[in-house]
Amino acid sequence: MPSKVFFAPARVTKWRYDDSMPGKLQRLLESMDLSSVFERDEWVAVKTHFGSHGAHRIVRPVFLNRIVEAVERAGANPFVTDTVRIKGLEYLKVANANGINHLSVGAPVVLADGLFGNDNILIPAGEILGSIAVASVIHDVTAMIVCSHVKGHINAGYAGALKNMAMGGVSSAHRECGWKCGRGSMHTIGEGELAWDAALCDLCMQCVEICPLDAITFNGERLKWNADECWRCGRCERGCQSGAIHLPGDDERFMKSLAEAAAAVAGTFKPGKLLYINFLTEIQPECDCMPAADVPVVQDIGILLSDDIVAVEQASIDLILKEEHLPSSMAEGVEEGRDVFKGIHNKPYELQVSEAERLGLGSRQYELVRIQAE
Ligand code: SF4
Ligand code: SF4
Repeated sequence: MPSKVFFAPARVTKWRYDDSMPGKLQRLLESMDLSSVFERDEWVAVKTHFGSHGAHRIVRPVFLNRIVEAVERAGANPFVTDTVRIKGLEYLKVANANGINHLSVGAPVVLADGLFGNDNILIPAGEILGSIAVASVIHDVTAMIVCSHVKGHINAGYAGALKNMAMGGVSSAHRECGWKCGRGSMHTIGEGELAWDAALCDLCMQCVEICPLDAITFNGERLKWNADECWRCGRCERGCQSGAIHLPGDDERFMKSLAEAAAAVAGTFKPGKLLYINFLTEIQPECDCMPAADVPVVQDIGILLSDDIVAVEQASIDLILKEEHLPSSMAEGVEEGRDVFKGIHNKPYELQVSEAERLGLGSRQYELVRIQAE
């Protein structure tokens, strides 16, 4: 039987609250009996991404607030959380600057893996990753709503709920095995030695600015890389527009490792305790951890809710592929009718979804249930 994916379209046809995006999200949440998902007083993580100092296109606080209120109406105790991308206090400042704080969302905002991003628990993952360091809060909490801002991604091609669970549920580093058990193990392979090509480098210093750990410096015109400090987060490689930085990886392995890590994180929950909300809004070409957010490549589409991560991802992709490309965006050079993310990033992102299905996380067969304002 196909999995149900509830869908609230973004388009407003009447000037009233019920037709607004927050209003439709409320109706989406009401369409699911949350009191049958969460126990009374159960702690429920509302997992999102706090963005960066310059990446403002995230899941907006007003949406997080509607989710928090719905969980409270069901009698449970929500809190909003994310794993550390830049060391904790700075990351909480980022959250606050992007409007995510206790006052705005209506619930405590906590770091899932501690101030230093190394509060995590090592668990078995699978044949690609071996073990993975799941953020302790996500590991220990018994229920979670995964709120994902859907967008493109230079490495993943497409980034939604699977990437949010995989990269977002895992820390950058573990106290003992470091980045090799962290999200860097998805970005790179083997020893993960960063390679720099001086001939391609134009000394723009973007890699220095983008590194969250100051692991890249320049000695005159020579790049110096601190291999011990480096989390292998891949931001420098993504930020270098000259192709001068390379971390050894391969696309197929990357996509499959995302699915594997997502399955490992999901495995820390009992069946039925995870919900997924994909926000197909401000669909920009890159990750929310980058220093800037570009303009959207397709129009806002809406919000999807499901208890099946594979179905919600497949439905998100299918809806995006139906959209026209927006002018004056990175999609401008992509021929109309062509997959917008393939045209921009040329990555086999569908492998994330098929691998997640193969690992038993859900089904690509879905029924789209459209929620309209009454
Ligand atoms: S971002 Fe790339 S081109 Fe710019 S300084 Fe770093 S390595 Fe060189
Ligand atoms: S991968 Fe690059 S950006 Fe990330 S920590 Fe290492 S040097 Fe810094």
